[in-house]
Amino acid sequence: MNLMHISSGAVLSRARTSPTEIGEAVKRYYDAGELVPDEITVQLMLAAIHDNLDADLVLLDGFPRTRAQAEALDAALAQQGESIGAVIELVAPMETVRTRLLGRLVCRTCGELYNTLTNPPRTPGVCDNDGGELYQRPDDTPEAIDRRLDIWSRENSDLVAYYDQQGIVHKVDADRPVEEIVGDIETVLRQSGAAR
Ligand code: AMP
Repeated sequence: MNLMHISSGAVLSRARTSPTEIGEAVKRYYDAGELVPDEITVQLMLAAIHDNLDADLVLLDGFPRTRAQAEALDAALAQQGESIGAVIELVAPMETVRTRLLGRLVCRTCGELYNTLTNPPRTPGVCDNDGGELYQRPDDTPEAIDRRLDIWSRENSDLVAYYDQQGIVHKVDADRPVEEIVGDIETVLRQSGAAR
């Protein structure tokens, strides 16, 4: 199956380094742990989605994050004769999420993720795959994490309610080992018919 994973965090992280007005705006919001304004996020994400409409399955990760983004996405997909097949809500206690973010490390060359507590690299600070340098994301500081979780708790219920009305929300318990979470997500995608 031709699966395309599009992460808004990754799309915006790339945009963040571009020496343009949009790049500078994205950097300000991203580094502070604030949501990037809907207008910019929707524009960049719709472009990324548009480039991948021929995939069997497009998995959107981290987008939409607000009801306005969800409405803009639905409208754009409808114009292409497409729609969202399933929404997966990963559910975990706030403290678990906070601890995971605080311990997260990313490889500068291949993007592999590690966690100082649950999945440390063999050599501290060095990627197991390619020896690349591991770094902490600029928005994984305690202050920015608290800001992001605070925004999440304000935006998420409205967003989930929007998709609940369409009857397409599937909750997955994310307070478990990664393999079990992935297994559940694959089951949802198969059973909902989202993966064609
Ligand atoms: P993430 O990698 O999903 O944690 O996203 C990292 C950062 O990118 C967030 O803290 C926001 O600044 C920005 N971001 C990611 N997705 C969105 C979105 N859907 N809407 C607005 N900002 C976003």
